[in-house]
Amino acid sequence: MTTKGDMVYAWAGDADILKRGECGGAVTALLKYALENKLVDAVLAVKKGQDLYDAVPTLVTDPEKIVECAGSLHCGTLLLPKIFKEDFNGGRDMKIAVTLKGCDAKAMYELAKRNQVSLDNFIMIGLNCGGTVSPMTARRMITEKYGVDPGSVIKEEIDKGQFIIEYEGGEKGISIDELEEEGFGRRANCQRCKTKIPRQCDIACGNWGVIGDKAGKATFIEICSEKGANLVSGAEKAGAISTSAPDPKGLAIRDKVEGAMLKLADKCREKQFSKLGEGTERLKFLMDETSKCIKCYQCIEACPICYCKECSTKKPYLVPRGQIPPPFMFHLIRYSHIADSCINCGQCEERCAMDIPNSLFMHAIQLEMQEMFGYEPGVNLDLPVLALVEEPAERKRLNDTGDDQIFNIFGQA
Ligand code: FAD
Ligand code: SF4
Ligand code: SF4
Ligand code: SF4
Ligand code: SF4
Repeated sequence: MTTKGDMVYAWAGDADILKRGECGGAVTALLKYALENKLVDAVLAVKKGQDLYDAVPTLVTDPEKIVECAGSLHCGTLLLPKIFKEDFNGGRDMKIAVTLKGCDAKAMYELAKRNQVSLDNFIMIGLNCGGTVSPMTARRMITEKYGVDPGSVIKEEIDKGQFIIEYEGGEKGISIDELEEEGFGRRANCQRCKTKIPRQCDIACGNWGVIGDKAGKATFIEICSEKGANLVSGAEKAGAISTSAPDPKGLAIRDKVEGAMLKLADKCREKQFSKLGEGTERLKFLMDETSKCIKCYQCIEACPICYCKECSTKKPYLVPRGQIPPPFMFHLIRYSHIADSCINCGQCEERCAMDIPNSLFMHAIQLEMQEMFGYEPGVNLDLPVLALVEEPAERKRLNDTGDDQIFNIFGQA
């Protein structure tokens, strides 16, 4: 019997899942158990598509098909929660279990605050996350740094500070530090990320802290809610997973690795933010960079905080039509609407056709607002700064008018 706060090593009872899982298949076994026992109607997991640079979100309702999603894809830079908002009515009509990295978990919370997803209907299976590599960078990095055809790579993993590839003809690892010095490695936002163990989820799963004969063959699960405790206890009782107490040395190692990752993120923040400068120098940097914008709206489409059906950037009285690049107001609208709640997921940068470092700007502004107002997005269900000022009046206006635009500080058309 497990309870909130417990930590266990866990691995799958089923031999096939044990073999195909990244670290003993506990996550796959839990997802299968949840489906088989009707704790959920569906699972949203991530499956390898054409190749390992192609991570595909996949809705699974047949428990036998869950094993097809086993394994970790580090070159998949997806953010899953907006799919629930857009394609699944915020999860209001079905119960769903989903695997979530730290940024996914934070996006779930921010969407829940805006009534765009219903957290009660989700089982949130958190995955510890050291970072992801964008598919384009991964291909270039493997060609140039590893001297290997990216098409011949069978498996990739991030272990002990190295990005390791297994390919037809051998295995090669290069330290992440070296890769990042040369502009390869994890995405810039991942380098800045400090949500390495997503404790906002019902359970947080990873390989850190698994040592001895279980290393690589079990997952370390931290149980973060009663829902998570019930899932793990039920699955163990049914034989879907086995568990053991973690090695005390493993616990200490996990703490140490997490601490080292957080320190590294601080160093990366310092280095990346110093490029932005301060005051008018920063404004000039932002204006120069955004002058490349082709107004493709991808940053808005991808952002989990941008949820409005009617976007202010499309109102001609705010952003006149037919101008490329759009006036700086286009970007100012996003900064003013989102900055307090940016979760540094990197999607607005990843999807930008013009390589504008949108996430860098937004994250920098968010951290400054956090320092001023104390609001940290994505960690709990506290409302954002702007909501503290405007939420009650805004909610009333939304209800009275049927408008969907919260924080409409610019008034009506
Ligand atoms: P499996 O049974 O193999 O199931 C894995 C599940 O993860 C599958 O259901 C699959 O759908 C899902 N998944 C795969 N890729 C993604 C993705 N990109 N986004 C969302 N879901 C995905 N653990 C650490 O302790 N330290 C780390 O630094 C670390 N970094 C990670 C980085 C990434 C990008 C990912 C996906 C995982 C990372 N993990 C890390 C977690 C670890 O790799 C294992 O996923 C975890 O131990 C569970 O192993 P398992 O055998 O139980 O999972
Ligand atoms: Fe992982 Fe954080 Fe990057 Fe998200 S932002 S992929 S949680 S390192
Ligand atoms: Fe993610 Fe960019 Fe939106 Fe921030 S602004 S939450 S980094 S998409
Ligand atoms: Fe994003 Fe603001 Fe547009 Fe809403 S109105 S989608 S918050 S930019
Ligand atoms: Fe402009 Fe890039 Fe946003 Fe497209 S994704 S609208 S190019 S900033």
